[in-house]
Amino acid sequence: MSDCVFCRIVARHSHADVVYEDDAVLAFRDIYPKAPVHLLIVPKRHIASLVEAGPDDAMVLGQCVVAARRLAETTGYAEKGFRLVVNTGPEGGQVVYHVHFHFTAGRRPRADA
Ligand code: AMP
Ligand code: ZN
Repeated sequence: MSDCVFCRIVARHSHADVVYEDDAVLAFRDIYPKAPVHLLIVPKRHIASLVEAGPDDAMVLGQCVVAARRLAETTGYAEKGFRLVVNTGPEGGQVVYHVHFHFTAGRRPRADA
């Protein structure tokens, strides 16, 4: 059993409120939402952080971005706008070491965040 919380969600060994899934990507609601819409988009395959990502990961990382565009449409924020953020490393604010894109929408973003 993986000790990675997002691998456990991908494997359905831990619960999450899943909002999108395809062969390579899963998206679910953040348990501590920091915006009216706060989703996490993850590659199903474990990649610890962007620092670990190599050329073989380019496809799945692109699929995460395309999933964000789909989620913008399904949540109604394609026109109004949204933010896509990947916190990376300790000084980048990364807490969970399985690459994830924060999709936030519904609130005016701070200029520096
Ligand atoms: P980061 O600081 O970029 O690593 O963000 C980790 C995010 O994962 C935080 O926003 C947490 O609220 C979220 N999170 C942690 N555990 C879970 C979980 N089991 N289900 C959903 N979101 C989670
Ligand atoms: Zn993982």
